[in-house]
Amino acid sequence: MQKLVVVKKMKVLVFFVAIVLAAWHCHGSDHDHDHGHTYQIFPLRMKTGHGGHYIPEVSCQSWRLGVEAHNVIDWKTVPQDCEGYIGNYMLGEQYRSDSKIVNQQAYFYAKTLNITAKTAWVFDIDETTLSNLPYYADHGFGVELYNETSFNKWVDLGEAPALPESLKLYKKLLSLGIKIVFITGRPLDQKAVTATNLKLAGYHTWEKLITKNTSEYHGKTAVTYKSTERKKLEEKGYKIIGNIGDQWSDLLGTNTGDRTFKLPDPMYYIS
Ligand SMILES: [Mg+2]
Repeated sequence: MQKLVVVKKMKVLVFFVAIVLAAWHCHGSDHDHDHGHTYQIFPLRMKTGHGGHYIPEVSCQSWRLGVEAHNVIDWKTVPQDCEGYIGNYMLGEQYRSDSKIVNQQAYFYAKTLNITAKTAWVFDIDETTLSNLPYYADHGFGVELYNETSFNKWVDLGEAPALPESLKLYKKLLSLGIKIVFITGRPLDQKAVTATNLKLAGYHTWEKLITKNTSEYHGKTAVTYKSTERKKLEEKGYKIIGNIGDQWSDLLGTNTGDRTFKLPDPMYYIS
């Protein structure tokens, strides 16, 4: 009996020694790899899901972040694999939520300012005040290459709905006494239909609606066109306190305004 107890005690001792040795080994190897990749702080599987399956949504999300941060530039179409992801984003809650936070921050900023009769706020139109989502939903959410003819046909209908969060900001800025200036890449010959569309969507008044003189700006980028128009505005005595758009080309260049606000748009890129 006593022999059996000793054997049991020996087994327990061996067990503990093994654990201590294992722990010491792991501890030691951690030190060995301090400069390596021993620590997996965020053990996310970037491109492989459970069981090693590829998840396109993860890389599409990274692509969208790259686009919004202006790290991915000069792209012509949404990656084919991301059509479903972008469609879900645009039609689901995330697009609305992302737009809401931008417009809210714009208002929080605006309401702290001193407003004069010449205080202006610049709004872009497409995907900023008016949404072309009904059109893009029928054209692969940006997967299809931009087709000027079919897009113009849609614009000429004058049926684009308002972006609800932008409309809220517009109304709040008006109530603060801020002058609204629309600067859009839409051409002069779409000015009338754009004005009608804006009113139909709930944008009833503005200081200026600036459309693009395509002969004056032929071959020029949106950055050049919009900077030039903002400069003219400031030369007329307006003070641009804020500027909101869905493209970086709405917000870069000169006379950009005291603060700029970037709305989400993963469907197309305009330089
Ligand atoms: Mg736009």
